[in-house]
Amino acid sequence: MKKIVVIGEILVEIMADTPGDGFREPIPLTGPFPSGAPAIFAGQAARLGQPVAIVSAVGDDDFGRVNTDRLARDGVDISAIAVDPDRPTGTAFVRYRPDGGRDFVFNIRHAACGRIPMSDAVRKVLDAAEHLHVMGSSLSSPELIALNLETAAAVRGRGGTVSFDPNLRPEILDAPGLRDAMERVLALTDLYLPSGDELTLLTRAQHPEDAVRELLADGIRTVVHKQGAAGARHHDTGGSLWCPAFPVDEIDPTGAGDCFGATFAALWLRGAAPAEALALAAAAGAMAVTRRGPMEGVSDLASLHALAGPHRGAS
Ligand code: ATP
Ligand code: MG
Repeated sequence: MKKIVVIGEILVEIMADTPGDGFREPIPLTGPFPSGAPAIFAGQAARLGQPVAIVSAVGDDDFGRVNTDRLARDGVDISAIAVDPDRPTGTAFVRYRPDGGRDFVFNIRHAACGRIPMSDAVRKVLDAAEHLHVMGSSLSSPELIALNLETAAAVRGRGGTVSFDPNLRPEILDAPGLRDAMERVLALTDLYLPSGDELTLLTRAQHPEDAVRELLADGIRTVVHKQGAAGARHHDTGGSLWCPAFPVDEIDPTGAGDCFGATFAALWLRGAAPAEALALAAAAGAMAVTRRGPMEGVSDLASLHALAGPHRGAS
């Protein structure tokens, strides 16, 4: 099976117990939950039996150990996670608003994961990558942008593939060079996994259909457009497939996109039929929202088959 590598943030997530508007008063919080979009992606891919490594850094603290213990238990190769003695593990505080939106307070750039040191262990993992998954949220510094871009070009240069999830967070949109970096990643992308408005974001198009046409014309092989509790649509040059979301009780939506993306990418790499990959990815997204904590809803293949049942997507 193809080895997937992700490069980016490892965080703990600490969430408000009650919905409300931001964090401007003392409120009860629950956590730490292991998190960080690339870490969730890696955890979900590993649970499906896919070889996967994460290149990242944590502090020499319990928040780091919450993550590395959990990733190792799920089967992720953690050999390229550095332990930074000088910086704490990254954090994300999240509070859901009554209208369904979310407010985040991130500490990424100045945390351990904002400065990933090059080492023999990192080089070894990068050299073995057959597929790189890039997340927009990981393009948070010039060094991380360069490492993701260089790796994407190297992986493709040796016949591997690249997937990309813009995973935009308004709180980090102003990261220097982010848009330019995303455009350059997109130019190296085989499998594109935008959500909502992200579909048109890096195109000249205003409408979803035009954006898809442009992306496929630019050489992207597969576009999967995640649409939250509505479902997801798969596009390639063979046409388009829609998979409605599986009905579940949504407890915590964070992490759905990463679990969806990891499942789709793993099945895409195994050559699964698009309808099957789409249905199982939608099942992974649905399972993810049923648990509190971004990484608590990762699922094995048997659970995904059980939820997806005979459903194989509809056009
Ligand atoms: P994230 O918050 O992790 O960045 P995202 O915006 O990238 O998420 P979503 O579109 O929210 O991704 O979710 C990905 C997929 O997961 C959806 O396309 C859908 O198939 C499934 N999903 C998401 N929310 C629900 C839900 N409430 N019920 C069932 N399935 C869901
Ligand atoms: Mg996302």
